[in-house]
Amino acid sequence: MAPVEEAKSSRRFNFSAGPAMLPDLVLDKIVEELGDYEGLGMSILEMGHRDAGGPVQQVLQEATDCVRHLLRVPANYAVIWQQGGAHGQFAAVPLNLLGDKTQADYVDTGVWSKRAMNEAGKFCTTRICAEVRERQGKAEVPPVSEWDLSDKSAYVHICANDTISGVEFLEDPDVGDRLLVADFTSTLLSRPVNISRYAALYCSSGKNLGPAGVCLVIVRRDLLDMALPQTPMILHWKASADTSPVASLVNTPPVFAIYACGHVLKGLRRSFGDCGTLDTVRQRVTRRADDVYKIIDESEGFYINKVSSSYRSQTTICFTFGRDAAVQREWAGSITAKVKLTELEEAFMKEAKERGMNGLEGHPAFGGIRICLYNGLVDKAVDEVLLLLQDFAVAFGGKAICAFKHGGLCNCKACQFDREASKLEDLWRVPRLAPTRMR
Ligand code: PMP
Repeated sequence: MAPVEEAKSSRRFNFSAGPAMLPDLVLDKIVEELGDYEGLGMSILEMGHRDAGGPVQQVLQEATDCVRHLLRVPANYAVIWQQGGAHGQFAAVPLNLLGDKTQADYVDTGVWSKRAMNEAGKFCTTRICAEVRERQGKAEVPPVSEWDLSDKSAYVHICANDTISGVEFLEDPDVGDRLLVADFTSTLLSRPVNISRYAALYCSSGKNLGPAGVCLVIVRRDLLDMALPQTPMILHWKASADTSPVASLVNTPPVFAIYACGHVLKGLRRSFGDCGTLDTVRQRVTRRADDVYKIIDESEGFYINKVSSSYRSQTTICFTFGRDAAVQREWAGSITAKVKLTELEEAFMKEAKERGMNGLEGHPAFGGIRICLYNGLVDKAVDEVLLLLQDFAVAFGGKAICAFKHGGLCNCKACQFDREASKLEDLWRVPRLAPTRMR
């Protein structure tokens, strides 16, 4: 259902890093059920979570079952829903996993790792055990064998996809017997995950999972007894895991967010995952990301992505313009800082807006452009952004590339160049063929 549906024509395509676009069918379903949930004469928003086996508990259970099914969560892992987003879990991780240790290792792949580490620093000593390095101008993460892991550390934390730098772990690292924890906020549900490699992982909603407001936590059950006594109940994994008849009833749960996530998960399961894993989702994710990176790479420096192909984010693709290379941007250290956009960035965003696309700006504190291809975005939106990349490069004197590999057949600039020597100034106005994906 949802993720493979075409979006309604009135809807703008939202490429932002989050909150991300929700499938139309999910929104329609929510509207349909909002006033009267399943003919009960009440909205799900008005129903009590203490009603044993009642609608709210069913919603929680169904969403949890979908997570277990889609991610193939082993039975020895608890699946819980907590409030406080990923920021809550930045604190929950040390509180729940330090045990009698006082130190933790962090792999630094960008701002989100740093924020996780800084928060953990309130409860223990944190060490950077590995960080992104540059090889031949491209960012990469050193292999696990080169991580400086300490026996004194309770766990090692990674950010599975840094939404701002566009550096992603495309494979689940193997750290042996050490406890690996991951922030999966901007990549969960884009590929199968080898859950058993992790002691715990968490994913704040607002991207692939559904609307913002809840954080999914998957944690190995044998680790649930390690929480520090001062762990607030609201962040206490065991307290959440142990409520009955369903988990996550420590306090009034954010029912609406979990209910909406449930619809996203059920849609994903129906579209892609019923017969097995998230492999089919990964194929779609990879195909779409490849198409964007191909244009960036073929643009001969008009667009620049500085991440090595083995760590290129499949969901949050970041780039800058080659012509802005001289622009110096140092991160001010604050997530709320705002850099000034370059003329090309402004022009790109303006053109995108005119074409019905929103949210293509990079993180405000860093600038650049960011194309987020979360599951809720329909393929038509990806085609539109490919056309934009293709047209924009030519309009601003870059290389002509055919986003759809038509080999001289369509009306795009690259194909026109193939057919005949064209007049550049006319090209910006050439009527586009409806995009036809050729693979
Ligand atoms: N981690 C990552 C990778 C993120 O992208 C974000 C939000 N963009 C966060 C953590 C923070 O999530 P929240 O605002 O829900 O705390």
